[in-house]
Parts: sequence; C-alpha cells; structure tokens
Amino acid sequence: MAETSSAAPSSSALLPVFARMDLAFERGEGAWLMSTTGERYLDFGSGIAVNALGHAHPHLVEALKAQAEKLWHTSNLYKMPDGERLAQRLVEHSFADTVFFTNSGAEALECAIKMARKYHSASGHPERFRIITFEGAFHGRTLATLAAGGQQKYLDGFGPKVEGFDQVPFADHDAIEKAITPETAAILIEPIQGEGGVRVVPTQCLRGLRELCDRHGLLLIFDEVQCGVGRSGKLFAYERSGIAPDIMALAKGIGGGFPMGACIATKEAGKGMTAGSHGTTFGGNPLAMAVGNAVLDVILAPGFLDHVEKTALLFKQRLAELKDRHPRIIAEIRGEGLLIGLKMAVPNTEMTAALLKEHVLAVGAGDNVVRLLPPLIIDDALVGEAVSRLDRACSHIEADMGLSQKKAVGA
Ligand SMILES: *Cc1c(COP(=O)(O)O)cnc(C)c1O
Repeated sequence: MAETSSAAPSSSALLPVFARMDLAFERGEGAWLMSTTGERYLDFGSGIAVNALGHAHPHLVEALKAQAEKLWHTSNLYKMPDGERLAQRLVEHSFADTVFFTNSGAEALECAIKMARKYHSASGHPERFRIITFEGAFHGRTLATLAAGGQQKYLDGFGPKVEGFDQVPFADHDAIEKAITPETAAILIEPIQGEGGVRVVPTQCLRGLRELCDRHGLLLIFDEVQCGVGRSGKLFAYERSGIAPDIMALAKGIGGGFPMGACIATKEAGKGMTAGSHGTTFGGNPLAMAVGNAVLDVILAPGFLDHVEKTALLFKQRLAELKDRHPRIIAEIRGEGLLIGLKMAVPNTEMTAALLKEHVLAVGAGDNVVRLLPPLIIDDALVGEAVSRLDRACSHIEADMGLSQKKAVGA
C-alpha cells in the first residue's frame, strides 16, 4: 500500500526553532511586501535590517541576473575580480586594509574572534585569547558567538560554553578596566546594540574603549552587522565617534538581501592570518560579490547617505510627536539614522501585534523595544504613511486599555 501523508495542515517539515507568524509573502517592491493572500504590508523591519535598499531594487536585480548568466561559483582557489573590487571599495571607505568575505554575521564574528586571538599568538602572546563583551550583546548563534553574547537562554543545553569570553555590564567603564587581565586579547562591542534594544553606545564610551585598548595593547572589535552599511545614516556607525576599531564585522545590509558578510581589519590586526589559517567554501562567491558591489553603488552614490540622515531626522521628529500624543504607550525614542527603537510603556509584543493589524512590519528587541528598520530608500511620504499607521496602532492599544479598565470597574 502506498504511504499516505496523515500530516495535519499546521505541521511542518522545518525544524521548529522559529515561532513563525501565519503570514507569508510572495513578492515585494521598495518598502512594500505583498502577502500570499494578496494584502500589502509596509515593511519597516527589512528582514531584520537586511533589505537595506528595499525589495526588488532594479540595480540589484540587474546585477544578480547578469551575474547569474555568467558564473555562480568557482571557489577561493582562484582569484575573484569582483571580490577584489568590493574589498578595495570597503577599504577605501573605512579604517580597514584587508577584507574576508563570509556568508553571515556570525561567520564574520568568528573570523574577527579568530583574528584577534591569532594576532596575539603571532605577537608572541598565545596566552592572550580572552575577549571582553557586554551585557545585552548579540553576536550570532555559532558556539563561539553565543559565548560572546553570553545570553543564558541561548546557551542552555548546548554543553560547555566556549571558553574565553568575559562579560561586563553595558557601558560600565570601571567594570571593563577591572575585567582586563594579562590574558585579554580584545574588546568586542556593537556601537549600537540591535537585538539588545537599540542601545546606542555614547561616543565618549567608544573613545574610552579605544584609549583602554591602546593602553593595554588590546584589539578593539566592532560588531556592525546590524548598524553598519548606511543603517545609522553614516556608512559605518563608528564614524560618528571619531575613533576606529582594529577589526569590524559586517553582514545584514551589506548584501541587500543576498546572504553575505565581511570581516574587515587593519593590516596590523590581520598580521597572523596567513594562507591556510582561515577559510570558507562559499564566502565571497561571484553572486554575492556582484550584489555587494551593486549595493555599494547605490549607498555610496553622492547624496544617498545625506538623504538617509534627513529622512531619519524627520522620522524621529514625527515619532517624538507620536510619543507626546501617546505617553501611556511609547516611553522613549532611541537610535541613530534608520535604526530606531521605540521603548514601550506597554509590552512590545502588543505594539508589534497592533502594527501588524495596520499592515506594518516591525521587529521586537530586548529591553521592551520595538525596532523600526525601514529600507534606507524610504522618502518623506512613506514616513508619513508609517506614522499614521503607528498612530492608529497606539490608539487601538489605548482603546483596549480603556475597555479593560471599564471592565475592571464594572466587575
Ligand atoms: C544579526 C546579527 C548577528 C548575526 O548575524 P547572522 O547573519 O544571523 O549570523 C551578529 N551581530 C549582530 C549585531 C547582529 O545583529
């Protein structure tokens, strides 16, 4: 007898590690997504800060199509002209001298961690392998990046935590200095914590970290996987601080939706990384490099980042007004550029649910924050559209609160 599927309609062959919404999309254009049921959604989540140029950006589509017809993969056994070009452009527009391409943020961080350890080993100090990280950080889901992030709920059940990470409270300068030992290799920080709740590290703290690193011979590693590549209104968030790291991890927006990342570093920090010391099969493949170059074409075009900063300023002003209108719902507006956090006065899940009803996609974060991460291409009209929908979502929550209060009084 032929085997028949007795699966219930809700069952899935996917490993159930994501609590997915009952919502799927079939196409997108700019800041808009069309669901499989034919409804339009305003995408202010950008696939968690990934679709930096929105959906189906013509320049990106063209670059990917053209590359797809020529060559998909050759391997890192051979030279890659587009990869050389993208690396050169990243170097020209940053503190870095050298670039390693990856497929994800966690892999970019793995490279950064290995590079920092190898640097000290190559300098005659293999005992210096420990890295100081911060509470509320998120660096990825590999075993080492989980240990770096230090969140117990993600570490539980996965065996001994990878050795060599010392976590200190967020932006506590004294605690950092006390955590430095003869075994410390580096300090790793997100200049703007994303998952942790859009917590911006003050400029003076970043400068303080640079000074500490210089004084103790440590490497400074920035995780700009979420805040980098234009999201903050600058190409890189660290630019605002006037200091630079030695190593930096990038991903998310760098591929505009194509899976890619990069670990970029100074020549000195990368001095231990020689032929054979690290590698990847897919990292830097021709498809990723074509799209990566196309993303930079747009973001580096004159005026683009100015436009992001101007739009972000308007958005923040409008959000401040919204907060004044709904003080029982929104407690605080945070962030830089188009990496914006609404610290909620009600549970953040209520707000994301109310926004979903208004057909706006936003993303929750730690510290009871709702993240607004629109594509960088939005204009003033879309800011207005989003603010109207946010306003309605707040009013709905208020109405529900009033209802439940009345119920309580009536009871
Ligand atoms: C998303 C994220 C990562 C991990 O990136 P993946 O591509 O999911 O591995 C690391 N650091 C930060 C700051 C992130 O936001």
